Amino acid sequence: MFFSDIIGQEEAIGNLRSHIRSGDIPHAMIFTGPSGVGKRSTAMAVAAAVNCTEKSGEGDSCGHCASCSKVKAGSHPDIHLLMSRDRAEESGASGHILTGLESDPRESSDDTKSPRVIRIAVIRDLELYMNRKPMEEGWKIAIIADADQLTVGATGALLKTLEEPPGDSLIILTTASPSRLPDTIRSRCRNIRFTPIPEETASDFLSTKHGMDRERAKMLVHLSQGSIGKALRMEENKSTDFILEAVARVSTLHRMNATDTLTFTDKFCKSVKRTETASMLLALLDIIEVYFRDSATGIWSEGWNKNNNGGNIGAEPALSCFEFIEEARKSLNLNVNPQLVMEAMFMNMRSAARAAARSKV
Ligand SMILES: [Zn+2]
Repeated sequence: MFFSDIIGQEEAIGNLRSHIRSGDIPHAMIFTGPSGVGKRSTAMAVAAAVNCTEKSGEGDSCGHCASCSKVKAGSHPDIHLLMSRDRAEESGASGHILTGLESDPRESSDDTKSPRVIRIAVIRDLELYMNRKPMEEGWKIAIIADADQLTVGATGALLKTLEEPPGDSLIILTTASPSRLPDTIRSRCRNIRFTPIPEETASDFLSTKHGMDRERAKMLVHLSQGSIGKALRMEENKSTDFILEAVARVSTLHRMNATDTLTFTDKFCKSVKRTETASMLLALLDIIEVYFRDSATGIWSEGWNKNNNGGNIGAEPALSCFEFIEEARKSLNLNVNPQLVMEAMFMNMRSAARAAARSKV
């Protein structure tokens, strides 16, 4: 919860520190940038610093005053973290988390059943909190993580709160996909940009701070495109080897027949825990995308060769496969049956890989 815990985001943090030092804190901010580069941690650091009663001249929280102790314990009554149920489970976040577990009868659209949305009920609760007096001296702060997961109804409700922000209140949205938020929301928030962390900086951090083997850290950072959060999640949920095996199969799709492809998809989907299927498959799609990008550009081929029997799939099929990944991503987000989504994607990829292999002969 300290700015000094966040690496590779000097510009964003410098900007935030100067707002805190001067006391000129915007009522609404949006932190944009790739996932896993420290947006949510920085938002918590801002919340801690804004309410800290003994902050440093640099605008950092002290870590030991009454307010900081509550932030650390996740029990500060005026700081709330809002996120979808799916993300809360995945990230193991703690504290005052509003996930809107109860559905709101006024919200009837199908997507409100998904664990990957932030519902209108959550934003209505937020509105109530924000209009009350703070419980402690200081600011009422709400962090809405992955704000692109707000439903249409929730977005409308949030807009109302952003239009008339209560005094001494701060709302921070974080998102890796700002274009999925309407302009009306974005234009009311000060944008703070987060950048991908250079791979070397990120892998150094993982090996020194998390004691990870250096080679493994380098690989995880590459696969997660410089996202420390993603790299740590992959290591924690032990999905790396599973994902690498799947990518190895992708690299040999042009040699597989249709039955083998379907059998592989079936085995693959069944080996993922039911509750984790969609998030695990979305993580896999990100990494298949990295593999195709590397195949198209020829970078990191040594790394893939070490982990991947099939090697580089070649630029031509790789380029045509990006759209299959995007289609699969959209379908998973719409709660289409994961196995059907993956079957369609792998079969399309297989066709593209075979067509490219045939044209070479
Ligand atoms: Zn403090």
